Amino acid sequence: MPKIARYEQNMKYAGLSEENQEKLINTSVIVMGAGGLGSGVIMNLAAMGVGFIKIIDDGIVQEKGLNRQLIHKCKNIGRAKVISAKDWIQEYNPDIKVEIQKIKLNEINYFNAIQGYDIIVDCFDSYEAKYMLNEISVRHKIPLIHAGIQATRGQITTIYPPKTGCLECVMQKPALFNEQNYASLSPVCNVISSLQAMEVLKLATGTGEPLLNRLLSYDALTSEFKIIDFSKNQYCNCCSVEY
Ligand SMILES: [Zn+2]
Repeated sequence: MPKIARYEQNMKYAGLSEENQEKLINTSVIVMGAGGLGSGVIMNLAAMGVGFIKIIDDGIVQEKGLNRQLIHKCKNIGRAKVISAKDWIQEYNPDIKVEIQKIKLNEINYFNAIQGYDIIVDCFDSYEAKYMLNEISVRHKIPLIHAGIQATRGQITTIYPPKTGCLECVMQKPALFNEQNYASLSPVCNVISSLQAMEVLKLATGTGEPLLNRLLSYDALTSEFKIIDFSKNQYCNCCSVEY
């Protein structure tokens, strides 16, 4: 049984009721990707007390990722990112149940991978993978916290099928993916991943206003946040289809 005393500050002073803290402790979240965004999401979920965290990533810890991947330590260079991430969580908050899978998610292996989880958090770095997650979310009606980062800009929206539009409703899926190799600065990852973690809190506890049908974009160089409202596209190639 998790030690709820750990979360006293959440409940006494940060506005979370004990009931909502219990909801977080009973929430299960899959973090797709343990890189820059994934690091921030994992740290925040572990700090808030999300009880069940699964991490999927097929990469290994590399020195070049350490400019933004805050949970990975030098001693773990060359080890699987999922193992490094699990180590971090267990040292920081041993009450959390952590599951890991070192796989490249695809249309075949995803089905078993997502079973039993309440919320998917998109921390992948390729748009091809992001559109795949969007389809998985729509098909299985699992909420998806989408986010993307390109250098000093980021964006985030919460897709809650079938209530909201999906990623393809707001950004048409390209016929061909021309993936550019973007990295990002650590603060940009941290801003967007913190917003993703707040979306998890809002969905898990039913408090606040999640970014439903709203795409929030962030420009780190001008410190500007913008919100674009969108709606479900009745002709969407993804979410207007009956599965
Ligand atoms: Zn759609």
